[in-house]
Amino acid sequence: MTRPVFAGLDLPALKNNLAILRRAAPGAKIWSVVKANAYGHGIDRIWNALGATDGFALLNLEEAVLLRERGWKGPILMLEGFFHADDLPLYDQYRLTTSVHSNWQLKAIQNARLRAPLDIYLKVNSGMNRLGFAPDRVHSVQQQLRAMTNVGDITLMSHFADADTPGGIDEAMRRIGQAAEGLDCPRSLANSAAALWHPETHFDWIRPGIVLYGASPSGKWQDVANSGLKPVMALRSEIIAVQNLKAGDAVGYGGTYKASREQRIGIVACGYADGYPRIAPEGTPVLVDGIRTGIVGRISMDMLTVDLTPCPQAGIGTPVELWGKEIKIDDVASVCGTVGYELMCAVAPRVPFILE
Ligand SMILES: *Cc1c(COP(=O)(O)O)cnc(C)c1O
Repeated sequence: MTRPVFAGLDLPALKNNLAILRRAAPGAKIWSVVKANAYGHGIDRIWNALGATDGFALLNLEEAVLLRERGWKGPILMLEGFFHADDLPLYDQYRLTTSVHSNWQLKAIQNARLRAPLDIYLKVNSGMNRLGFAPDRVHSVQQQLRAMTNVGDITLMSHFADADTPGGIDEAMRRIGQAAEGLDCPRSLANSAAALWHPETHFDWIRPGIVLYGASPSGKWQDVANSGLKPVMALRSEIIAVQNLKAGDAVGYGGTYKASREQRIGIVACGYADGYPRIAPEGTPVLVDGIRTGIVGRISMDMLTVDLTPCPQAGIGTPVELWGKEIKIDDVASVCGTVGYELMCAVAPRVPFILE
């Protein structure tokens, strides 16, 4: 490894987080959500550490096939279902459970030539207005599905638009209750936020994603700080150069930062082409040699600059944590106006992953 930037992966932390979800929802089975290449962690790197899960949920056929090829024999849920009718032979071959959210999918299932019936997650639109049938249509859709020889087990599924605020799920739960009237099938409703904060949503299967990776579904680390969750990913690098600034010296593109006094700054091998957000403002927290300091100047493609005032001992080769155990990804995301989800998904392919 030449360039010092890397992503550290803590697989015991992943197991710990899965165990915390088990305790939070003891009566429910768990779909571990590993979409988007396991939220940027690499599905191939992490799936085995989640071997105690009951199933994996994702949405790319390639990722589902990879899990089967690696030997996962348990259930796989395709969260957005099949995108084209001619995907169905692969669903059949790889035994994938499919979400069904639109009329055209009913016809496609009816007309498909399958070796065995497909298990179905019948999706109800509980107010997000992305995917799903209106609550008052669910009963008739379920009856149509029941009548098809291509259909196996049916589970009622919904997804919350707002599970991280108190009362945010009330209207959605009302709609789901309406959809479920007279239906006797299992339910899967809860994402991470609902799994942690709304036990009344747990039912048969929960579908946590972000908390498995040790970040907060609300975007605020303090909301999960006492939950026992541990960050799985750390973005790390080193100082590759030091500059001694005089008062008035500028730093980086546009000279947006100007030293007001003599100041040592460190140049870190990590930039937006590694997935670090270019929008990160001055003062965004960074850990240098175990000490919290902040970003100065603009983030470049391959480098960023940090204030070394609080850590005078730091020099070339000093380790830097951009996010991880000490610098919470939620805190970095929050000053950048986004959420930890986006930052973890954006780690660039050129960043190597290392188990820590
Ligand atoms: C992404 C996703 C989840 C997991 O969401 P988190 O907030 O990461 O827990 C659950 N269900 C569906 C349908 C999803 O798309």
